[in-house]
Amino acid sequence: MSIFKHFINGEWHASSQTRPNHNPSQPNQVVGEYAEASADDVALAVQAARQAATVWGRSTPQQRFDVLDFIGSEILARKQELGHLLASEEGKVLPEAIGEVSRAGFIFKYFAGEALRMGGQALASVRPNMEVLTSREAVGVVGLITPWNFPIAIPAWKAAPALACGNSVILKPSELTPGCAWALAEIISRSGLPKGAFNLVMGDGVAGRAMVEDPHVDAISFTGSVQTGKLIAQHCALHMKKYQLEMGGKNPLVILDDADLNIAVECAVNGAFFSTGQRCTASSRTIVTEGIYQRFAEAMLERTRKLKVGDAVAPNTQIGPVVDQRQLDKNLRYVAIGTEEGGQLLCGGERLAGDGFFFSPAIIENHNPQARLNQEEVFGPVSTLIRVKDFDEAIAVANATPYGLSGGICTSSLKYATQFRKDMQAGMVMVNAPTAGVDYHVPFGGSKASSFGPREQGNMAVEFYTKVKTHYIA
Ligand code: NAD
Repeated sequence: MSIFKHFINGEWHASSQTRPNHNPSQPNQVVGEYAEASADDVALAVQAARQAATVWGRSTPQQRFDVLDFIGSEILARKQELGHLLASEEGKVLPEAIGEVSRAGFIFKYFAGEALRMGGQALASVRPNMEVLTSREAVGVVGLITPWNFPIAIPAWKAAPALACGNSVILKPSELTPGCAWALAEIISRSGLPKGAFNLVMGDGVAGRAMVEDPHVDAISFTGSVQTGKLIAQHCALHMKKYQLEMGGKNPLVILDDADLNIAVECAVNGAFFSTGQRCTASSRTIVTEGIYQRFAEAMLERTRKLKVGDAVAPNTQIGPVVDQRQLDKNLRYVAIGTEEGGQLLCGGERLAGDGFFFSPAIIENHNPQARLNQEEVFGPVSTLIRVKDFDEAIAVANATPYGLSGGICTSSLKYATQFRKDMQAGMVMVNAPTAGVDYHVPFGGSKASSFGPREQGNMAVEFYTKVKTHYIA
């Protein structure tokens, strides 16, 4: 089997170590064998990025547009093939996987345009005969560290704005899903980008840490767990390095008595279980007012029991496997915690037959908002049902976690929908829509323990990837 190598300074680069990547639907099947970066490999990539920073930092908006537009077009043209790769390394069902690849393509297209639009401001001076302007400049060398659950969209939503702003980048994808990032690097290798402006190093936290701690890296954009985020924050704060963190969620979906039952059930099931619940924006708590609770719970259970779990690329599969044995064990462990702490398992929560990491979507009823299962992120198809008296209690429970990524409400009341949008402590709020569905061209991010630093995506992404300079001209 050939080895997929790192992409450093415009060349394919081998390491002494490699790591196989397994298909979670059929764990005996190896998707590919990928080079595993040492700290020395990372240092080489950083050095290449440093050298390229001046060249790419001085590129014209048209050059940036051309490169990003090419990358976007190539991704979109290969969405079926890359969708299959994504489904086989991450376990997302094929339609969702192809959707994610398309999203990555559109992100590059969007930031191709952003490269042309980006600019500074002309301001009035308080002094006579003085002109004041602001301009935006690239930060320099940016390290991008990404998780496994969106293996092409998240690398895209970091790399595209970073390159559009004229930075050189080193991408370190998750060790569980390097295949999509490698495919992205292969496309970028043909895009006309100067050598060293984009580098790919594959490996685990050892490589990630080497990148964070390299003094020649100016900024780190990280998406992953709170635990890793805290380690990165500590180092970056100590060394005055710019950083941005996107982390976990314990996102609530509130269902009020006046909700449309069908819409509410669709929002709850989609939000909790699509992408096998492995989305940072998944609604892992469904908070339901007492007047509709019984009817809603029965309807959600009926819909959930019908979900077809299976091989990610098989026709009719609605829920693919969880990503690996560790996540499978974590889901099982949290179901046990949920029942031990007094929750009632209403459906699912078991390993299913077959070689793959198949797990039946679980609903656990526990009305105590402080229960561990209502507080801690599982990051899988394990969701809780919480009964509350009214809207006021619902919003209090919705906000009673350390997280604040997304939050949704199903109601036909404009008054409550508006109040919820104001009161919900989250970066993204949804009305009569699942908490997990987001656009690719608007700001993305959360509050509290979910996020730190400027927003990702949309026009706000340039905040992180640029420095502002103020010019005084007499
Ligand atoms: P993780 O923190 O284990 O790993 C994320 C990345 O960090 C990987 O590339 C990993 O190799 C790297 N890493 C590990 N240790 C490191 C270290 N010490 N220094 C530097 N890098 C290191 O997270 P994961 O399991 O891959 O992803 C799941 C988490 O990601 C969940 O908490 C989920 O909510 C979160 N997530 C958040 C968003 C968002 O935008 N808010 C999106 C997707 C996933």
